[in-house]
Amino acid sequence: MSIRVQKVFEALFALEDAREVLRQTLPTGLDPDEETVFRTKIARAQAILDNLDERGSSPGATRIAGTLDIRTREEDTINIQPIQAAGRLTPEARKALIAYGDGYSTCDACRKPFRLDKISRPPIAAFHENLAKFLNMDIARVVPGARRGFQAVTNTLVEKGDPVIVSALAHYTEFLAVEAAGGVVREIPVNAQNVVTADATAEKIEEVHYETRRLPKLVMIDHFDYQFANEHDVRGVAKVAHQYDIPILYNGAYTVGVMPVDGKAIGADFVIGSGHKSMASPAPSGVLATTEEWAPEVLRTTAMVGDVTNRKFGIKEVEMLGCTLMGANLIAMMASFPAVKERTMCWDEELKKSSYVIDGLHAIEGTNVLSEYPRKHTLSKVDTTASFDRVACTHKRRGFFLSDELSRRGITGAFAGATRAWKLNTYGLSWKKVRYLVENFQEIAEKYDLAVRREKQ
Ligand SMILES: *Cc1c(COP(=O)(O)O)cnc(C)c1O
Repeated sequence: MSIRVQKVFEALFALEDAREVLRQTLPTGLDPDEETVFRTKIARAQAILDNLDERGSSPGATRIAGTLDIRTREEDTINIQPIQAAGRLTPEARKALIAYGDGYSTCDACRKPFRLDKISRPPIAAFHENLAKFLNMDIARVVPGARRGFQAVTNTLVEKGDPVIVSALAHYTEFLAVEAAGGVVREIPVNAQNVVTADATAEKIEEVHYETRRLPKLVMIDHFDYQFANEHDVRGVAKVAHQYDIPILYNGAYTVGVMPVDGKAIGADFVIGSGHKSMASPAPSGVLATTEEWAPEVLRTTAMVGDVTNRKFGIKEVEMLGCTLMGANLIAMMASFPAVKERTMCWDEELKKSSYVIDGLHAIEGTNVLSEYPRKHTLSKVDTTASFDRVACTHKRRGFFLSDELSRRGITGAFAGATRAWKLNTYGLSWKKVRYLVENFQEIAEKYDLAVRREKQ
């Protein structure tokens, strides 16, 4: 951990301690004792900043509350962890976390009819409209993760024993959302290229219909799956589903927030995104967007009446349990949103960087790309069985030799000990970092006598 990073954390924490003094005073201001304490705390922050690069004096902050290590992975290393890349916060989101960290901080100006998406200060209502527009859908809600979006839909559409179509590369949270609703998943097999096609979808629907004498209640399709990040024919699948009058849920966990997504053009009845996976937002956060047609069902309001009190809760939406992201998570999501919108326009550049890394790995003798190639996503699965795993076979640290080498070079996020099939995600890395990655992987290869095809790159 670099001293400078520690010191920056220490200064931030010192400022929080000074802020706490402000929180403890009367509205009329600091009394003389408080003034002294406040000035002492500020002086401490100042001193830390003045000695930012001084080693030895004090080690800087490494813990919170005595037991929680500060997390400096993003400051200290190049992180290629597959699920973390596009969930890294923007500076604006980090500021939002500081300013809105208190519990129900979004609720200061909540007025009748008391629902999160109606709040106009901060501009949460407008954010909901912008989210819907961003996805080209009619209406949007924020949810605690893509999985909670799936759940709202399955809870609404699926009854006990109902079949639901998912892909053979579907995420486990889709399985669980169907299971929680009492449904049964039926998987569309992938083709030889590990891609889900419209034809395979039609066949699966027919098969389910033939076997169960009923049509599936829902088709859930991942645009890019989590295993290979291969692109699946979402438009084709939507078209087929609609021919059978089955609604389609577009799983954009790996697309919403990194590339343009047009729900109407896809033909999606539901578009679901993950804030912490792809929208530079804290966990849990996500989005559920739908059409005018489906909103009254999935966003139905409560009809329940208390038998003793006769109480009713008006416009609270059942699947949202009233309100969803009631604090810093939502504000941070909103703070990142302008940058997120902007960055979806730069997807091609992200693909270029991804290809550069994949080609650089491919140049190492024996290394293969398991994902479709050329790459259409920044997440990829590579197979190093015939390269780094060969080294691991005779190395005393076995598979850990690669993680050791990588962490020594400040590269984190590759699965520790894995030298066969593993995933990496280059999303958001600068060209400088991407070049560093390739150089270092190739240097490690050469260090262990694996040949590297040096091409002009
Ligand atoms: C990560 C992921 C999810 C789950 O997203 P959460 O926002 O964590 O609920 C669902 N589907 C796919 C394809 C994913 O990659």
